[in-house]
Amino acid sequence: MMSFTELGLRAEILRAIAEEGYTEPTPIQAKAIPVVLAGRDLMAAAQTGTGKTAGFTLPILQLMSTRPAAQRGKPRVLVLTPTRELAAQVEESVRTYGHFLPLKSTLIFGGVGIGPQIKALKNGVDILVATPGRLLDHVGQRTVDLSAVEILVLDEADRMLDMGFIHDIKKVLALVPKQKQTLLFSATFSDEIRSLANGLLRDPQLVEVAPRNATADLVTQRVYPVDKAKKRDLLIKLIDDHHWHQVLVFMRTKHGANTLAEKLNKADISAAAIHGNKSQGARTRALADFKSMKLNVLVATDIAARGLDIDQLPHVVNFELPNVPEDYVHRIGRTGRAGSSGHAVSLVCIDEHGLLRDIERLLKKPIEKMVLPGFEPDPSIRAEPIENGQRGQGRQQQRSGSNRSGNAPKGVPPRPGRSSRGNSSRGNAAQHHSGSRGR
Ligand code: AMP
Repeated sequence: MMSFTELGLRAEILRAIAEEGYTEPTPIQAKAIPVVLAGRDLMAAAQTGTGKTAGFTLPILQLMSTRPAAQRGKPRVLVLTPTRELAAQVEESVRTYGHFLPLKSTLIFGGVGIGPQIKALKNGVDILVATPGRLLDHVGQRTVDLSAVEILVLDEADRMLDMGFIHDIKKVLALVPKQKQTLLFSATFSDEIRSLANGLLRDPQLVEVAPRNATADLVTQRVYPVDKAKKRDLLIKLIDDHHWHQVLVFMRTKHGANTLAEKLNKADISAAAIHGNKSQGARTRALADFKSMKLNVLVATDIAARGLDIDQLPHVVNFELPNVPEDYVHRIGRTGRAGSSGHAVSLVCIDEHGLLRDIERLLKKPIEKMVLPGFEPDPSIRAEPIENGQRGQGRQQQRSGSNRSGNAPKGVPPRPGRSSRGNSSRGNAAQHHSGSRGR
């Protein structure tokens, strides 16, 4: 196995890596780091949990540490992410791995006062991590100038497209120099991603690692066939019987997430919902309480959960299957991380049989089924169309064989990046504010 030293990273970075306790690069890091260091464009298929963030952050820090410092208001590296949580995590990684280097990073997302962000930008920023909406606000106010960007990273590009950010991304692309290094990370290479990449990347090196959980034996997966009306009771029974203390539960809709969290609390299971309508303060608090096990259950929508890094999460429950099979892989990727074993449980009612088939097709294997006594599905119940959730305008349903409703996605997808932590000083705790949405 290759070591970080062999990858040619400088001593300051190796020291930061050692302090994090990493002993060897993950596969995506071993593949991506040399490509980035060589100055090449990169198209990487890797999802959260693979170590992809360090895969681009480490070589970027190395490259930037050897080049002239940033001018005021002109970042040299721009990392775009779909959600504020992911943006916060990436910027945190930049600060962690860059701890012994004199590089400045700033985090920008919407929902809070723009003032502190403007101040941070004025102080000079080498590495800017941003969600697209607020970044464009800054561009509009001329508080950031993207004309000196040397490296552009699109992180979780598939999710940005799903969330309807394509126009914002195109606006940003028009503002950065043509001559630059571009790194595109995506969980999957859909046609849309390929077409984005075609127009953007120059002679990219393709790097692919197996989605952790498509292959990992670390996650045991099980389906409980159950009627929709009995799902909640089944979940409560599973949590009680097995003494699950830390469970991430996925719902398709924000409303569903809120309702379930309320009902669980009534059943004496401490739960909170996390989704795009919650203020940043509420989301941060819920996540912190969940991590410290003050909360037993975090009920999340797909978009809110994206990018959450919760170490060694033991249980993931799909209270409802996702509309897009790939999201199943993302969801169960929240468990069994970093070598620990995990359990992914799906409560599947008759309406969802088509979705389940799509997922099993994607996994190329059936998932073990188990019917619990008292929760046997009633054979007289007929399948009904699935209530449409909060899918974005991007990826449409293409797979056949499911009984999804034909509803068009409702309205504009939730805009992330409505809250901010503008902060270029290292080691500072995040200043999360709850704030209103909108620009
Ligand atoms: P990511 O896929 O970037 O979200 O990273 C997933 C998790 O893996 C994060 O908690 C990282 O801190 C951790 N990680 C990243 N690189 C390594 C490594 N080489 N060895 C062990 N853990 C790592």
